[in-house]
Amino acid sequence: MKKEPVKIKELAVDQRINGFQEVVLGYSEEEALEEAGRCLQCKNPACIAGCPVGIDIKKFIYQITKKDYIAAYLTIREKNNFPSLCGRICPAEYQCRKACILTKKGAPFASPEAINIHFLERFAGDYGMREGLEAGANRNEDLSRFKVAVVGSGPAGLCCAGELARKGIKVKVFEGLHKTGGVLRYGIPALRLPRDILDFEINYLSKLGVEIVTNFIIGRAKTLDELFKEGYAAAFLGLGAGIPSFMGVPGENLCNIYSANEFLTRVNLMCAYKFPQFHTPVSIGKHIVVIGGGNTAMDSSRVALRLQKMNGMEPDTTIVYRRTEVEMPARRLEIEHAKEEGVKFKFLVKPEEFMGNDLGLVEKMRSLECKLGEPDSSGRKRPVAIAGSDFQIPCDMAVIAVGLKANQVLTKVTPELKTDEYGDLEVNPQTMETSMRGVFAGGDIVGGEGTIIEAMGMSKIAARAITDYLKS
Ligand SMILES: Cc1cc2nc3c(=O)[nH]c(=O)nc-3n(C[C@H](O)[C@H](O)[C@H](O)COP(=O)(O)OP(=O)(O)OC[C@H]3O[C@@H](n4cnc5c(N)ncnc54)[C@H](O)[C@@H]3O)c2cc1C
Repeated sequence: MKKEPVKIKELAVDQRINGFQEVVLGYSEEEALEEAGRCLQCKNPACIAGCPVGIDIKKFIYQITKKDYIAAYLTIREKNNFPSLCGRICPAEYQCRKACILTKKGAPFASPEAINIHFLERFAGDYGMREGLEAGANRNEDLSRFKVAVVGSGPAGLCCAGELARKGIKVKVFEGLHKTGGVLRYGIPALRLPRDILDFEINYLSKLGVEIVTNFIIGRAKTLDELFKEGYAAAFLGLGAGIPSFMGVPGENLCNIYSANEFLTRVNLMCAYKFPQFHTPVSIGKHIVVIGGGNTAMDSSRVALRLQKMNGMEPDTTIVYRRTEVEMPARRLEIEHAKEEGVKFKFLVKPEEFMGNDLGLVEKMRSLECKLGEPDSSGRKRPVAIAGSDFQIPCDMAVIAVGLKANQVLTKVTPELKTDEYGDLEVNPQTMETSMRGVFAGGDIVGGEGTIIEAMGMSKIAARAITDYLKS
């Protein structure tokens, strides 16, 4: 008999929206066993190829069915440095779960019947964390004389640092912000990724001997050349895509219009929701509009709605997107959660102009209705604006979440580093080496905005290549 997927427990909506508590609560042991028991243990499991770091999914799920959670944890750790983290935020419906044999052929993302691989990964990861399990290091005395500099402490930098440190190489991570984690800390809110989970994964690196300095911008405080002169044998750049894109429409710089990066950084990193106890303020509109259809838009809308609720206002936060829900690149779960929590959605709408009052404060957004046209280069149907369909949306605050670009603070002052037209680093995909000898890169600074697991996949290739480079 076909078994139904095991639903994950979640915090009730009225409990969620008054704060930033984690929404997804995870599987109990019984639930994990039941879900793992649904896995068909395919002879040729496609899910493994669907995972950018190639976790042996079939094996770890089998180990869960045998209640060997330590083995399951270690199987995941062989390929993935951060199981508790990826189990929470990987877009599994576009990756391993989409490749699961239980997903219907040709579906744009995983079918609900697909095994909940990510929730099982989280279960094993959290087990390992609770039990204080540690993945073994494979130290090599010969390599311990080398020092490698890692620039950026997002998932790309952290993953590369971990891989190198496990081989015994001395690693120092330089982070420009005052806290580590990159987007994991300043972008993704605690309601999706609790900070103790993030801290645990980062502390694990410190235990491996990785040294981390914050408030240190490479390219400003020191150049790459200076690092090499100080004795670093190689460098890894995980600089991320931290620069927001805008739509370029009139009125976009009116007051109370934020880039999603600024808005989320104020709230997540600078604790603006606790102003004035914390020094960074944030505006909270009565009618908030968030523009975009990705994870950044979902996070911004859910944070904005919570701020309204926490300040005793009637929540009124609307996502405006040019295409339809099917084309939204955000994780399906986040779209569902946003809807449950009361975020409104306006599809097939293209913002044309923001209009403000005499004080320069935004008041409304003029938009056009759209219809879907032919697919574009991304394979998604192109939005086509309908002439004369103008209408206005009241908004006294807007958050623009329409994409991110390369952080070029370092690349601009390092002419040896070749970049493409978008400012992304050019690398040899086999080694992730840049045009500068001994300098490797990975994550969003290579190829633009991606996912956490893709960033980690690149870092692993780079770490292997750095090791070979040091040996040679
Ligand atoms: C709001 C939001 C939500 C997202 N949600 C998801 C999700 O649910 N699932 C998913 O898989 N992906 C998600 N993503 C995408 C994912 O977070 C990124 O793909 C990932 O963080 C890229 O990692 P990275 O290490 O390359 O860059 P980042 O995480 O951007 O880290 C780069 C770090 O480098 C530092 N830095 C840059 N230049 C310098 C310098 N010169 N010197 C020192 N430090 C420097 C920056 O301060 C930053 O801390 C989301 C992205 C955003 C913005």
